Amino acid sequence: MSAPLTPDFANGEVSFWYRSLGVPEPGEPLDGDLQADVAIVGAGYTGLWTAYYLKKAEPHLRVVVLEKEFAGFGASGRNGGWLTGALAGSPERYAKTHSPDAAKRLQRAMFEAIDEVIRVAAAEDIEADIVKGGLLTVARSTAQDVRLREELNYQRQWGWTEADVRLLTRGEMESRLRVSGATGATWSPHCARIQPAKLARGLARAVRNLGVEVYERTPVTEISRGRAVTPYGTVTATYVLRCTEGFTATIPGHHRDWLPMNSSMIVTEPLPEDVWAEIGWNGRELLGDMAHYYMYAQRTADDRIAFGGRGKPYLYGSRIDDRGHTPAWTIDALWSLLTSFFPAMAGFRVAHAWSGVLGVPRDWCSTVHLDRETGLGWAGGYTGHGVTTTNLAGRTLRDLVLRRESELSVLPWVDRRVRSWEPEPLRWLGVHSMYRLYRMADARESRGAERTSALAKIADLITGH
Ligand SMILES: Cc1cc2nc3c(=O)[nH]c(=O)nc-3n(C[C@H](O)[C@H](O)[C@H](O)COP(=O)(O)OP(=O)(O)OC[C@H]3O[C@@H](n4cnc5c(N)ncnc54)[C@H](O)[C@@H]3O)c2cc1C
Repeated sequence: MSAPLTPDFANGEVSFWYRSLGVPEPGEPLDGDLQADVAIVGAGYTGLWTAYYLKKAEPHLRVVVLEKEFAGFGASGRNGGWLTGALAGSPERYAKTHSPDAAKRLQRAMFEAIDEVIRVAAAEDIEADIVKGGLLTVARSTAQDVRLREELNYQRQWGWTEADVRLLTRGEMESRLRVSGATGATWSPHCARIQPAKLARGLARAVRNLGVEVYERTPVTEISRGRAVTPYGTVTATYVLRCTEGFTATIPGHHRDWLPMNSSMIVTEPLPEDVWAEIGWNGRELLGDMAHYYMYAQRTADDRIAFGGRGKPYLYGSRIDDRGHTPAWTIDALWSLLTSFFPAMAGFRVAHAWSGVLGVPRDWCSTVHLDRETGLGWAGGYTGHGVTTTNLAGRTLRDLVLRRESELSVLPWVDRRVRSWEPEPLRWLGVHSMYRLYRMADARESRGAERTSALAKIADLITGH
C-alpha cells in the first residue's frame, strides 16, 4: 500500500522534530589548537549530558565538545521520544560478569534516570513536551500474547515488581488505547514521552550557559591518547571521550566496534478530535508491540502519531546515510503497519519520514568505559534504548573522570569488554538474515501460530541478539 503524503511532505532533512523547530544553523567551528581538561567528541545526548554533569560538579574544568554537524544532529534529534527505563540488552548478560543483584541495581538506576532527566529539564527550563504516561506494550497475535506473558515473568525474575509493570485487563487496555487486533497488553510507569530535538537543543543551551565550549561543523578525524584531531586544529586534553554512538564505525580504529543500525520513522499530519475519541490515547503513553520486527510510537504534543520501525536495517560496510532520507518502501511499510494498528488513520496522510543510526555492540549490551591510564573513554552501544541511558552514561563518565567511587562507577555496564563484529560480508549477511527471519516469523505468527516461531530463535542465534 502506497502511503498518502501531504503536499509539503518532507523526506529526511534530519527529522520532523527539527523541522518543527527549524533545523539549526551550525555554530562556529574550532579555530586552531587548544588545550582542555576534557574533550568530548559528539554533541548528542551522551556528549551533552557528560559535559553538563562534569561542569556542574567542577565548574573550573575546561570542557570542550567537538561536533561534526550541530548539537543533536544524530539519533538524539531523531528518535521516537521514548524516555524509557528499559535496559539495553538482557540483564542476564550484565549479571554474568558481576551478579544478579548488580544487574538489578543497573535496572533501578535506569528507572531513576527517567526522573533525573525530567528534573534537569525542569531545573534548566528545557521545554521538551515531557509527559510521563508510561509504556503500553501490546500483543496482536496468540504467539505475541504468549511472549508478552513470558516477558513479564522474565522481568519479575529481574526485580520488576507489580508496581513496575503489570498485565492489563482488556477493559484497562481499551480505556487507554484501542489498537486493532490487540489481544493483550502490559503497562509500565517507567517511560515518558519527549520531543527529542527540544531536549537536545535545550541541553546544548544549558551546557553552553555553564561555560562548556561546543564547536560545531568540526569533524574529529583521529582520537588518540590526549588528542582529538580535526581539520581546524587539535584539542589536547587529559581526557578524550568518544560519544559518537551510531557513527562510531566512521572513527578510525573503531570500524567494527558497534554496528550502525538504521531506524526509520514517519509522522502523520495533525489528527482531529474525532480520531482521538475513537482511539483514545489521552494518557500520552508510549506504544510498543511484541513483534520481532517491532514498532514504537507516540502521540505528539501537536496531536500527530509518530510511528517508527526498522526499515532498511543496515548498509553494507557500516555505511551511514547521514541526512536521514528514507526509501519509499520503508515509508509504505510503516504506513501499512500504522493503519493496521489504527484503521481510523486511513483517511489521513504522512507529513514527514526520516531515519537515523544507533549503535549495536556484538552482545547487544551497552558500555561506559574510561581508561585511567590513557584518559580515553567512551559510552554507547545503547541498541535503540539511548534516550534515558545517555543520562546515566553522562553521570557515570563524570564519576569516572573525577575518580569518584560511587554507586554508578561500579554498575555492571562499566568497563565491559565486547568482541568486535565480523568483517564483511559476514556482518551484512548476519544482520540481513536476522531481519529476514524476523519478518518471516512475524508473518507466521500473524497467521495463527500458537508460539514464538522457531525462525525468530534462529535469527537470535545468528547475531547473538
Ligand atoms: C529513528 C530512531 C529512533 C530511536 N528511538 C529511540 C527511543 O524512542 N528511545 C530510546 O531510548 N532510544 C531511541 N533511539 C536511540 C537513541 O536515540 C540513541 O541511543 C541516543 O540518542 C544516542 O545518543 P548519542 O549522543 O550517544 O549519539 P548521537 O545522538 O547519535 O550523537 C552522536 C553525535 O556525534 C557526532 N559525530 C559523529 N562522528 C563525529 C566525528 N567524527 N566528529 C565529531 N562529531 C561526530 C554526530 O554528528 C552526532 O551529533 C532511536 C534512534 C533512532 C535513530
